[in-house]
Amino acid sequence: METIQIKAFGTEAAEASLAPLRIDRRKPTAHDVEIEILYCGVCHSDLHTARGEWGNTIYPCVPGHEIVGKIVKIGDQVKNLRVGDTVGVGCIVDSCHECDYCKEGLEQYCEPGMTWTYNSPDEHLNTHTLGGYAERIVVDERYVLRIPENLDLAAVAPLLCAGITTYSPLQHWKVGPGKKVGVVGIGGLGHMAIKIAKAMGATVIAFTTSEGKFVEAARLGADKVVLSTDEAQMAAYQGKLHFILDAVSAEHDINAYLGLLRVDGSLALVRAPAELLPVSAFSLIPGRKSFAGSMIGGIAETQEMLDFCGQHNIVSDIEIIDIQQINEAYERLLKGDVKYRFVINMASLKK
Ligand code: NAP
Ligand code: ZN
Repeated sequence: METIQIKAFGTEAAEASLAPLRIDRRKPTAHDVEIEILYCGVCHSDLHTARGEWGNTIYPCVPGHEIVGKIVKIGDQVKNLRVGDTVGVGCIVDSCHECDYCKEGLEQYCEPGMTWTYNSPDEHLNTHTLGGYAERIVVDERYVLRIPENLDLAAVAPLLCAGITTYSPLQHWKVGPGKKVGVVGIGGLGHMAIKIAKAMGATVIAFTTSEGKFVEAARLGADKVVLSTDEAQMAAYQGKLHFILDAVSAEHDINAYLGLLRVDGSLALVRAPAELLPVSAFSLIPGRKSFAGSMIGGIAETQEMLDFCGQHNIVSDIEIIDIQQINEAYERLLKGDVKYRFVINMASLKK
């Protein structure tokens, strides 16, 4: 298969810093589009993967699955996209198209397994997929999203993962008017969950470990904010919430949050720590509570989320960085020191 060589930024080992790399992309085949990447968001999953924290990283690793760019080339069978279109690519770049889940638009749960934008087998090049910290990416048009014209291009990038990962469970658990929703962790995912749940009409209570995010939470749309380290503040919400979305990147006590659910309430994890979680049966049984998880969202739902954000003028709060600052950005991410998503200006790769 013919390839093109491009500039990227990635890592050769779990302990190594991210550094410039040259990587291959396939030349667009009949159904592919080639995208010049303008912006790429920095998800905590990028850090987990680059540092091998989930134990499944294939090196070299080029992270990045919150991609926004312009189409520069298209294959001769491409139907719905044109050169010059502004588009997005999220976490999924392929799936089987045939299983029940793919047919239902749940490609993220594809039975044989979806192809992640990075760190998945790449059948075209007989290697593994490499993500968006790069000049260009080549993707089957079925996995390419349209960006609403009214939204800022850099600030829209995080919607491709943080946006859909929170929108999908909020939709699934029917968050809306009359529902009290807790969002735990005001990071990249959490701040999007606050904005989206509010736009869906819910009452939103944000839980944070950072006193500094108190005022900010209200600006993001939270009706109330709770310092989760303060027992009295936590006790005030005992048995009060219909749904909780847990978007924390590190270990913390899940039972404390199960206690905040009403009867029949659900808590869904979107966070993905490598460790097993200790969950007490007595956190669930009295109150018929559900403890669940949710992973990103399908392609049609991602487009629906982008259109919803376009209608409600929702984008991510971002700090733009150059790719050369990525290692420092990872350190700041670990300290919760970002409001609320780093987005890489990919033009900096040319420096
Ligand atoms: P992030 O921007 O780093 O935000 C995580 C937030 O967790 C922080 O802002 C902080 O919020 C809170 N936090 C951090 N350390 C903590 C600690 N020790 N105790 C309590 N709270 C702590 O991360 P993100 O990009 O939003 O990702 C969050 C998690 O979701 C990651 O594990 C990521 O891999 C996962 N993820 C899952 C999916 C999926 O499909 N399910 C998709 C994307 C990401 P406060 O300062 O407000 O406390
Ligand atoms: Zn992500």
